[in-house]
Amino acid sequence: MTTAVRSCAATSCSFNHDGCNALAITIAGAEAQPTCGTFVQLDARRPMTGEASSVGACHRMECSYNSDLVCTAEGIEVTDTANCATYTVS
Ligand code: SF4
Repeated sequence: MTTAVRSCAATSCSFNHDGCNALAITIAGAEAQPTCGTFVQLDARRPMTGEASSVGACHRMECSYNSDLVCTAEGIEVTDTANCATYTVS
C-alpha cells in the first residue's frame, strides 16, 4: 500500500508543478507540525510526472497513521509551509 500525496500547496518547492512531482517524499522534522523533508528550493523545476507522489517514509512515529515508519493514511495533504496537514495524534 502506498500513501498518495493528494495535494501540496508548497508552490515554492522545486518538486511542485501543479502538485508534488517527487517520486516519493519523506515526512520528518522535530517541530510541532511534521515537515516534508523533500522540500527544496533550487534553480530547477521538476517536470510534471502525471502520477501522484507518495509518502516513502515518515519519521513521526507518534502520528496515529504511522506504522513502523510507514504512513498508513490513504493520502496526505501538504500545506503551503510544507507541513503534513494529515498528521494526527490521538
Ligand atoms: S499522516 Fe502521519 S504518518 Fe502519514 S506522513 Fe503525515 S505525519 Fe507521517
